[in-house]
Amino acid sequence: MSAPLVIVGAGQAGMRASETLRRLGYDGGIVLIGEEPHPPYQRPPLSKKFLLGEMAEEQLWLQGDGFFTQNLIDFMPGIRAVSLDPRGKRLQLSDGTARDYSTLILATGSRARELPVPGAGLPGVHRLRAIADVIRLREAVADAGRIAIVGGGYIGLEVASVMRGLGKSVVVLEGEGRLLSRVMSPLMSGFFHALHLRHGAEIRLSERVVRLIGEDRVRGIELADGETVAADLVLLAVGGRANDELAEEAGLACQDGIMVDEHALAAPGIHAIGDCARFPSARYGRHVRLESVQNASDQARAAAAAIMGKPEAYDPVPWFWSDQYDVKLQIAGLAQGYDRHETEGDPESGSFSVSYFHGDRLLAVDAVNAPRAHMLSRRALAQTAGPA
Ligand code: FAD
Repeated sequence: MSAPLVIVGAGQAGMRASETLRRLGYDGGIVLIGEEPHPPYQRPPLSKKFLLGEMAEEQLWLQGDGFFTQNLIDFMPGIRAVSLDPRGKRLQLSDGTARDYSTLILATGSRARELPVPGAGLPGVHRLRAIADVIRLREAVADAGRIAIVGGGYIGLEVASVMRGLGKSVVVLEGEGRLLSRVMSPLMSGFFHALHLRHGAEIRLSERVVRLIGEDRVRGIELADGETVAADLVLLAVGGRANDELAEEAGLACQDGIMVDEHALAAPGIHAIGDCARFPSARYGRHVRLESVQNASDQARAAAAAIMGKPEAYDPVPWFWSDQYDVKLQIAGLAQGYDRHETEGDPESGSFSVSYFHGDRLLAVDAVNAPRAHMLSRRALAQTAGPA
């Protein structure tokens, strides 16, 4: 019997790859290996409704009961792939067994970046990436008086808005001079800063954390200027990094992400998709690694199509969303490198959009409570191609 196609990582990308392969008629064996104990699930609600307690665990599952049986997919939860031998086409697994594969798809996702400071391992210091993290965080929040969030990116700010909704005292400590600085324009950073202040969160910019203080558990945060910020719960939300070690140790090219081509191919017979992959974008003229549902789903479909002999170059219009308080932000495209922007609607009204251009070329659109502007911008961006 020939070896199956094996997918490592049972998240958004791994799940979509297995579904698409079956939909396109792949009739060989498929094995889906995931280190978490759950069925594949969606992560966006983890920092939104699921954290608030407004969504049950089962509502996170990407597929209903019976999917794996009906589709003859051998799902192996709670198992980690620990090493890869690309020449022998074999994986070593955490349960001591080995698996041969005919084709391999790496869909190992990303993890929370660590803050390399003393005290980061103290009880009371949290990260948010998986269901287990949210369950721990929810329990701890019940007794927390003051919550400090290190990192003013999407996850940090979404958690801040949930915590303010629960009536908690919240301080956000951001190292850069503005919120969301890696992904948003100064105008949008200013909008979100004002939004959080209006809802009673404290925002401190350009603050460098040097140490988390406490003996039996965290009691506060020491800043570079010697000041101490009191907190009995700390969330570290300082960005993500690719889970690319399995590939790197096997000799595959990695640069905070497994390097792949436009068909998500990393090496002969090995694809990498989703958060763990860095792909060439002709649209933006560089290699990009995206952490979004859009990318995980669409790149999974591209890899499956290539495996089925129907390759189509993957060069998407990236899109993403974030929910904070009563604001739904929807982003299409990547704004980096813009030289001018235009605002439509009035930010004061709470519904507006900002378009970013390089010369005449539209690069990206941020839409705030403006779903129509978001849909139109995705259509407009899809018509642009080639390097910006
Ligand atoms: P993942 O979904 O992370 O799945 C990877 C899986 O592989 C994990 O279960 C991991 O444990 C497993 N794994 C890793 N290594 C191994 C191994 N060696 N062996 C076996 N299994 C392994 N995106 C949006 O577009 N909008 C949002 O609003 C949004 N909000 C988010 C909020 C949070 C809190 C988080 C964490 C992410 C959010 N995202 C959002 C990002 C989005 O969820 C991810 O981009 C998407 O889940 C990526 O899918 P993936 O399959 O690449 O990785």
